[in-house]
Amino acid sequence: MSKAGGRAGGHRFDPTILREYDIRGTVGTTLFEADALALGRAFAQCIAEAGGTRAAVGRDGRLSSPELEAALVQGLSQSGIDVARIGVGPTPMLYFAACTLGVDAGLMVTGSHNPADYNGFKLVLQKRSFYGADIQRLGEIAAKGAFRSGGGVVSTVELLDKYVERIAADYDGKRPLTVVWDAGNGATGEALVRLTQKIPGKHFLLNEAIDGRFPAHHPDPTETKNLAQLQAAVKQHRADLGIAFDGDGDRIGVVDAQARILWGDQLMTMLAADVIRAKPGATIIADVKASQVLFDEIARLGGTPLMWRTGHSIIKSKMAEISAPLAGEMSGHIFYADRYYGYDDALYAAIRLLGILGRSDASLAQLRDRLPAVVNTPELRFPCEESRKFAVVSEVRDRLKKAGAEMTDIDGVRVKTKDGWWLLRASNTQAVLVARAEARDAAALERLKRTLARELASSGIEPPAF
Ligand SMILES: [Zn+2]
Repeated sequence: MSKAGGRAGGHRFDPTILREYDIRGTVGTTLFEADALALGRAFAQCIAEAGGTRAAVGRDGRLSSPELEAALVQGLSQSGIDVARIGVGPTPMLYFAACTLGVDAGLMVTGSHNPADYNGFKLVLQKRSFYGADIQRLGEIAAKGAFRSGGGVVSTVELLDKYVERIAADYDGKRPLTVVWDAGNGATGEALVRLTQKIPGKHFLLNEAIDGRFPAHHPDPTETKNLAQLQAAVKQHRADLGIAFDGDGDRIGVVDAQARILWGDQLMTMLAADVIRAKPGATIIADVKASQVLFDEIARLGGTPLMWRTGHSIIKSKMAEISAPLAGEMSGHIFYADRYYGYDDALYAAIRLLGILGRSDASLAQLRDRLPAVVNTPELRFPCEESRKFAVVSEVRDRLKKAGAEMTDIDGVRVKTKDGWWLLRASNTQAVLVARAEARDAAALERLKRTLARELASSGIEPPAF
């Protein structure tokens, strides 16, 4: 994995790797060690401009992560930044480092939930997500090649135990539960082994050995097929619930005792109820893809629902801006500021869920069945040319506005009718459009889908197979 991606005078990243929320590519094709080195040097400049001198660096368990991490640390240090290396762990452990080690920035080497040959970086500067235009700027700094030079001190910090203890400290259940956990061979494995030793109950662990080849299944709990092993184990052990993590532990997947999947918005109704009980009137944030049931539940329980744009960095920023105690996305990113630091940590969300269930007389399945029944589509993703995707959404929005539709346009268009609602938005990271619809019954859902298909056709887009 060695190739000088640089050019005399500066370093050029493959343009596809500088993305909206992170830096990500295929190792050996679009992403090389030279990129990690240049990234360290470019980001060092951003840290210095913000008045900082220290950074924490962590990595996931992918096969390419050690080399990328070493190059990244070298780049930071060569540009005068002191580095605390925290080693292998989930991305939220790096966020924990950024919040507790007295550093100015954090860098995580991770390919998150992507296939084994991917890798990338998530960045934090002064406890805030570093994304959007900031990431583009790293490309500009690297291209100029006028890097700062210095000799930062590199040290190793053992943080895993402290991180796990901090999470376990917030477990507040009264009744022991039987839980199956699936780490998916991702970076949460070792943290999970230690965490489950610290909390009561019976715990069965699946795929807890960190293995960057992901031999059991893909570490992405938003895909139903990746939860099959967990579902089977929950039934086999007659467990109260099953919990899965994505490859770097910032997204959670949950199944109940009947092995039914609870999506991010369903899970959020239970987490929100608990936070609102402690903090009446609290603002709870969910993204535009979330069920109306969630927003209605938050209001019914005495909280203040806030629908916001999709994207973990965007949600985290909004949360900090308005001091919201809890936020969540359909994708399984759950952010706790209530008793915690306000970043997306799936292990922490799991512990809070176990606390809620361990204090409740009702099971997770019963809590789920108490929610109003609705029928909805999953998140539907279908291809649309990069150059057209935002235009299509604007055209649909303009036509609907003219027609006087009731809608929200903070992120795409989310249209409310007497049947329910439907959403159309452009992905920030791929050449795809995203749609979802939800209604009170099947006939109403059909009407919503037909409206959505008609709108897409009016803009020359073949509707997805609903
Ligand atoms: Zn992730």
